[in-house]
Amino acid sequence: MAVQQNKVSRSRRNMRRSHDALVAANPTECPNCGELKRPHHVCPACGYYDEREVVARTADVELDEDAA
Ligand SMILES: [Zn+2]
Repeated sequence: MAVQQNKVSRSRRNMRRSHDALVAANPTECPNCGELKRPHHVCPACGYYDEREVVARTADVELDEDAA
């Protein structure tokens, strides 16, 4: 087992942890549906990215009952 040679002082420990803070998400409004979405990500509400639909939502897909 590795054993540290010197005690890390409170000061040095806290200096190490100064970069550990979580940053808050920066949601932006979807230009298509107005829902808040993460920047540079497909909108989870409408499936649009860059003002065109890239992911079809299951609610929008017409299911043909006779085809099954
Ligand atoms: Zn949207």
